[in-house]
Amino acid sequence: MKFLVIKKKAIYLFLAIILAFICVISFAVVSTTSPKHMYTVVIDAGHGGIDNGSIGYFGTLESDINLWYAKTLQDYFTQFGFKVVMTRDDDNGLYSPFAKNKKKDDMQARQKIIENTKPDMVISIHMNSYNDTSSRGAQVFFAKDSQTGELLAQCIQKQFKKTLIKARDSCQVGDYYIVNCTSYPSVIVECGFISNPEEEELLLKEDYKNQVCYSIICGALEYLMN
Ligand SMILES: [Zn+2]
Repeated sequence: MKFLVIKKKAIYLFLAIILAFICVISFAVVSTTSPKHMYTVVIDAGHGGIDNGSIGYFGTLESDINLWYAKTLQDYFTQFGFKVVMTRDDDNGLYSPFAKNKKKDDMQARQKIIENTKPDMVISIHMNSYNDTSSRGAQVFFAKDSQTGELLAQCIQKQFKKTLIKARDSCQVGDYYIVNCTSYPSVIVECGFISNPEEEELLLKEDYKNQVCYSIICGALEYLMN
């Protein structure tokens, strides 16, 4: 049993090293092909403030876990030389306390950040939820008619399929504000289903969060090389 645990840890470590290696190689290629351009990414932790998003099988608040993943992703992108703009970096929403429609106000504030930043890509972090608690798997969504959004989504989904225990087969068009509100390449990353008890537990593990975030940055780097 102990041997199995050690073996599992060794596999994760090996996987992390391979991923880091791929990322370094990819970034070296990206850097040498366009040395003067500093890539900019907007990382959007979904929900926040009065909006908790979905609630997990064991009670995890989506808004909390989104921020946890977004901050790890912020570290990774920063380490790879990106300029990172976060739509939120605390528990608060972006709406005005006086706004009548706080959800709308919050989403418009996120849109404004994207438009002011003029980023190379927007990555919005969410956790999925569904009535059927057996549903699971990471999946990326993009706006209908956005070729760049679709390509970015495909690159990240491909990495998910390579790396994660369970990922959906393909990315998908999603009718969401954050992907529809801008012409910059924008994707929603649903990292997994917190409505599935097993996947909720997995999503709360540091190792798994790192695997998800490595997949996202590797996919993003691959997208930039296209
Ligand atoms: Zn959400």
